[in-house]
Amino acid sequence: MKDAFGRKITYLRISVTDLCNLRCVYCMPENGVEKRCHSDIMSIEEIITAVEASADCGITKVRITGGEPLVRRGIIDICRGVGRIPGIEEICITTNGVLLPKYASQLRDAGVSRLNISLDTLNPDKYAQLTRIGRLEDALAGLEAAEKAGFTGTKINAVLIGGVNSDELGELVGLTRDRDIEFRFIELMPIGECADWDKARFIPGQSVLDAVPELVEDGMSGVSRMYRVPGWKGRVGLIDPISHRFCDRCNRIRITADGKIKPCLHSSGEFNLRGLDRDGMAEVIRLAIESKPGRHMLEERSSESIRNMNEIGG
Ligand code: SAM
Ligand code: SF4
Repeated sequence: MKDAFGRKITYLRISVTDLCNLRCVYCMPENGVEKRCHSDIMSIEEIITAVEASADCGITKVRITGGEPLVRRGIIDICRGVGRIPGIEEICITTNGVLLPKYASQLRDAGVSRLNISLDTLNPDKYAQLTRIGRLEDALAGLEAAEKAGFTGTKINAVLIGGVNSDELGELVGLTRDRDIEFRFIELMPIGECADWDKARFIPGQSVLDAVPELVEDGMSGVSRMYRVPGWKGRVGLIDPISHRFCDRCNRIRITADGKIKPCLHSSGEFNLRGLDRDGMAEVIRLAIESKPGRHMLEERSSESIRNMNEIGG
């Protein structure tokens, strides 16, 4: 269905847990988050019903996210259940990759179409600092496991952080030389843990083009402006919600692990889905889509979201 601004809403991002096996400094509090009581997060059945209700409202693509979706008990059952819903044509997962050696094949068998793997740096020390408890080698093993399991079209996502990975943009783009991957740079958004960070940390997507002048334009892929180095196998994407606001093309809604719909990542508006049957959920989802704000105001102020990114899923 269309929202009040004529945007066709077809894409649902659903967070299946707010827990994570990493503690990325821009996303998670240092000590993690308290494990919620079982009944505070949506059950597998509720998640499936919420996606069925979303399909009733015109959703065709689902991204499963977190926290870290692969730490959620029953993640394979969730993927399989979502994959069986009529009208859902594509299921993707966004993951930090660390648990892919264990799960990649099962995810593929369960019907997951594509993976996005987050990898902000290729420097082991920086990776350890950024994630607080992670090891680069585990993330790289995840990438390899995805390939081995037969996933194609895998996208790697790196958040651009001034003074952290701004000096290795060329090296990160270099991953597209021999691999048929999409490497996407995402502008850091001032939300949750990093809402008050120094302005110097927020660098524009343009810095990638400045660092690698060989990149030439290669169209659009969703909200990502695409580039490639001529002769190289992969492509580079820039997702720049701040310097090139794409709200007029936004086609997504989000559901949090505790069952709230967020019509916009950066507004405080939320609608509860818990305790409702499929028809009740569909009614609330329609209301949420109708109330989707026209745009965010990140160029002027921090996000108005009342949640950290680990609760929303990016
Ligand atoms: N744990 C999974 C992962 O890291 O891919 C999924 C959840 S994570 C919240 C989803 C994406 O949001 C990651 O690519 C992460 O880098 C990104 N992210 C988190 N905080 C962000 C921020 N403040 N600005 C931009 N992207 C952010
Ligand atoms: Fe975990 Fe992903 Fe947030 Fe990092 S970005 S702390 S991996 S949820």
